[in-house]
Amino acid sequence: MAGNKKVPRIIVATKAGFCFGVRRAVRLVIDGIERNKKMCTLGSLIHNPQVVRNLAERGVLIVDSVDDVPDGYTVVIRSHGVTFEELSKIKERNLDYIDATCPFVKRAQDIVYKLRKKNYGILIVGDREHPEVKALLSYAGENGTVYPDLPENVEKVGVVVQTTQTLENFKRVVEDLKEKLGSISELRIFNTICKSTEERQREVIELSRISDVVIVVGGKNSANTRRLFDIAKSMGVDAYHIETDEDIDFSWFSDKEVIAVTAGASTPDWLIGVVVDRIKSMTGGIIDGRV
Ligand code: SF4
Repeated sequence: MAGNKKVPRIIVATKAGFCFGVRRAVRLVIDGIERNKKMCTLGSLIHNPQVVRNLAERGVLIVDSVDDVPDGYTVVIRSHGVTFEELSKIKERNLDYIDATCPFVKRAQDIVYKLRKKNYGILIVGDREHPEVKALLSYAGENGTVYPDLPENVEKVGVVVQTTQTLENFKRVVEDLKEKLGSISELRIFNTICKSTEERQREVIELSRISDVVIVVGGKNSANTRRLFDIAKSMGVDAYHIETDEDIDFSWFSDKEVIAVTAGASTPDWLIGVVVDRIKSMTGGIIDGRV
């Protein structure tokens, strides 16, 4: 595909940028600011430093725990959700709060809670350090474990997955579980990967097939962005994970005819626009629509 005389095509993914859950969470915080509420978030609202900085400039505080919420502030539960204990504390302190937990995350929490009530062992597939998984684990109580640990002394097991995991990894884990938990009486699998994640990941596979280089825009601390980057790399295409246009290196585009740009679920549209403009001015490339 290489050829340095041609004007490069720049393809921007249709699924790049804010997902439904992140857009909703940011909207809820901005609504609060516009109603002159004093707002704070439990941890960074989303995994994007530029958006978080912007909200901080508008007076939004970040606190590490419910104990740190100052009196008179409205606390926002971010899209990953919070643990059962944190929610109880918010209620105990009678704090004003806005629940921006994404409905897809909420669905996974509800499934876990129902499984717990029915005495299932609960296995969560995901990153045990991620706030979403920590929250799910809290809903599972003592019945919960995070893969590759396996539930012990249970007759039946229910499996859920972090909303932003890859379908491929989940399928691999399910196969492994069928083998390892073959002797239990019941194994119930719930695919709780959100639709937005699935679509975004499917699209980056498609983009990697038709492009010479894939640029993935998003916070370095954003798990779903890192997964997009990993998927592109695994497809054998040149791929780079950047946070802003300042991270771009011109040499990435030499001899490239098709440049793809995608972004994680917490990357704002304006930032994607700035990146695309920078690539355009560096390469003289033309936007070739979205895939
Ligand atoms: S990635 Fe999916 S689950 Fe997470 S906030 Fe966005 S829509 Fe919700």
